[in-house]
Amino acid sequence: MISAQNVTKIFTGRGITVRAVDNVSVEVASGEVVVIIGPSGSGKSTFLRCINGLELFNSGHIFIDKVDLAHKKTNLNHIRAEVGMVFQQFNLFPHKTVLENLTLAQMRVRKRSKAVAIEKGRQLLKKVGISEKADEYPSRLSGGQQQRVAIARALAMDPKIMLFDEPTSALDPEMVGEVLDVMKQLAREGMTMVVVTHEMGFAREVADRVIFMDEGKVVEVGTPEHFFTNPREERAKLFLKQVL
Ligand code: ADP
Ligand code: MG
Repeated sequence: MISAQNVTKIFTGRGITVRAVDNVSVEVASGEVVVIIGPSGSGKSTFLRCINGLELFNSGHIFIDKVDLAHKKTNLNHIRAEVGMVFQQFNLFPHKTVLENLTLAQMRVRKRSKAVAIEKGRQLLKKVGISEKADEYPSRLSGGQQQRVAIARALAMDPKIMLFDEPTSALDPEMVGEVLDVMKQLAREGMTMVVVTHEMGFAREVADRVIFMDEGKVVEVGTPEHFFTNPREERAKLFLKQVL
């Protein structure tokens, strides 16, 4: 479903060059859940943003379901509709109700009628357990509820892939579980997912594979079992010691 081959993303400015993503190759099969871990600044967010076409990369290739992102004829808006993304900051439209947040892109991008979009939106609110908030504004919801709306909004586009960038890092601890539960359910339903998180319990329970990144590179790849019992690389050991 995702094939990243030797992807490099370089940021330059004020005479400084940062290889944010440095020759990264990752394959993700349909239905697979991959968790990316690593210290701050290791390139995790930049790599996710490359996968859904939010960030152009300098070299390498990314194929989403065989479509080449680097090909000049590829419509990146089309890719962004196929690849849902959920951020640490929920990024809901503040002046739209919860339901309007869920229907907008369905109508604009998927060209659905208002009635169809509303029906789909309500189904998804039910799925993430907040049907009763359909007509509220985001600011009147808790962080955990807002993040569940953000997940529902991404799902409303019927994405083939869901990317999560530290989706629980901005939440109060008591709300982390309700968001992880929604993600676990998605994983069980067979969604292809790439999740950047420091929630090692989630990684252990849900991930098919864990990728450890440092300084823009993939340093180690393995099963959760491998990482949590016997990581090979010193940098991975040190990182896991800090977060576990
Ligand atoms: P992570 O998500 O693992 O914390 P990031 O992908 O955010 O890491 O950042 C990787 C590196 O790229 C860091 O050194 C960061 O400072 C740099 N970086 C990220 N975004 C930009 C940007 N827009 N401009 C310049 N440098 C950036
Ligand atoms: Mg990040």
